[in-house]
Amino acid sequence: MKFQDEFRDRELVRNMAANIQRMAQRLSKPVNFMEVCGTHTMSIYQFGIRSLLPENVRLVSGPGCPVCVTPVGYMDKAVACTADARNIVATFGDMLRVPGSRSSLMEERAKGADVRIVYSPLDAVALANANPERRVIFLGIGFETTAPTIAASILEATRLGLSNYYVLASHKTMPIAMDLLTADPDLALSGYLCPAHVSTVIGANAYKPLAEKYHIPCVVTGFEPADVMQGIEMLLAQVLAGESRVEIQYSRAVSWEGNPKAQTIMERVFVPCDASWRGLGMLPGSGLAIKPELARFDAEKALEIDPGEERENPACRCGEVLKGKLSPFDCPLFSTACTPESPVGACMVSSEGTCSAAYKYGR
Ligand code: SF4
Repeated sequence: MKFQDEFRDRELVRNMAANIQRMAQRLSKPVNFMEVCGTHTMSIYQFGIRSLLPENVRLVSGPGCPVCVTPVGYMDKAVACTADARNIVATFGDMLRVPGSRSSLMEERAKGADVRIVYSPLDAVALANANPERRVIFLGIGFETTAPTIAASILEATRLGLSNYYVLASHKTMPIAMDLLTADPDLALSGYLCPAHVSTVIGANAYKPLAEKYHIPCVVTGFEPADVMQGIEMLLAQVLAGESRVEIQYSRAVSWEGNPKAQTIMERVFVPCDASWRGLGMLPGSGLAIKPELARFDAEKALEIDPGEERENPACRCGEVLKGKLSPFDCPLFSTACTPESPVGACMVSSEGTCSAAYKYGR
């Protein structure tokens, strides 16, 4: 298959659903397959994939949305950056309405703070170049997918000799979070639909230690309905055969080695660090920090940022949603106090958030 429409072919997807039904009859117990990619989460809700599956094949959404896993303390730092009139805070649009402990970037912008939406970190570098008297702080969040572009922006700022470009870095790497989730007996995961975008960078080999350590099948899967259904078929085939291998369903974009250029750029700029994840807490080695020799670009090291005391909204249950332990529909605030127009938590704000996907397609 070559064109997008072919991966949305109803007859093909129906046949796959029938095959999954047949395979599921041979299961000795229900299986729980987790996706850890916000685009997969959206796709699963948008195309009603769950409704095509038998009861004993369950899909569980994990911490795949980069905005959602960014902790409230980071939002407080971003909000604190807006307080200094010398600063321009540059960010992807999804971050604007994520609530911090006391405010959001949207609220601060309404009060007059200089917060600008950019579509690439290089736009933020251009902003710094055009405004030498201002300090441009780019909010560097996301997984291995965005980290190379943010690393490239720091290299570009170095090339241009800029001294007014900073990154507030909170990058996360996926395999360590997957390790934590796999070890959780409450989740009892049976397999992973491994993330596609992340895997284009890190390669499918990155999941082999996980598959070997926990004997859990892993299939790197694409985003279209036929991709997801085939990924589920491949996971089921492994479960039924008692196997636990890494396979690539999304071979039109993902290789075993990933993208060596992107990996080299990341290695030039970042080093592994401990990272705090919303819902999962502090995970050793699961983040990327700017290297000490590039500390002049590191907003946390180069600037004084006072985020104040961190306060989570106790009513929001994003943490449990991100761990796959709570369906958005079971949060008492879902679609009542918490809607995309008036979000209480990050999972309802981001276009890739599980609560947002459930609100848009699942009600
Ligand atoms: Fe948080 Fe809203 Fe999701 Fe509930 S529905 S977990 S309040 S984002």
